[in-house]
Amino acid sequence: MSVTVTDCLFCRIVAGEIPADKVHETDTVVAFRDITPRAKVHSLVIPKEHHESLAELATAAPGLVADVFAAAGEVAAKEGVAQTGYRLVSNVGEDGGQEVAHVHVHVLGAQSMGPVGV
Ligand code: C5P
Repeated sequence: MSVTVTDCLFCRIVAGEIPADKVHETDTVVAFRDITPRAKVHSLVIPKEHHESLAELATAAPGLVADVFAAAGEVAAKEGVAQTGYRLVSNVGEDGGQEVAHVHVHVLGAQSMGPVGV
């Protein structure tokens, strides 16, 4: 049984209420291209079940953490960056720059990323 939050943007994408450019989907996760791409390849991987952040997910549903990261690898392969490399980012909380309170991992690639900045 999935946990959904009615006013959560990403739960609404999972429910099909808001359109998204999906690149990968399994029973537990979905990946879609970011609406405001910050790299030539920029997708988001989310669990279908609502969890606020990666920190919360790791405690509440560690199996979903594995599903999210496995899906990130699938996205990288589908987007053609598995061999050249890519960056995975998950912002946690306000200081981390998290805007959507439904855990998501950014898959960024198809260009040299440089050092991690602040
Ligand atoms: O890590 P953070 O919470 O800031 O990332 C949220 C991401 O969700 C942003 O990169 C934003 O462009 C993306 N987004 C999206 N589709 C929406 C709303 C937000 O891809 N409908």
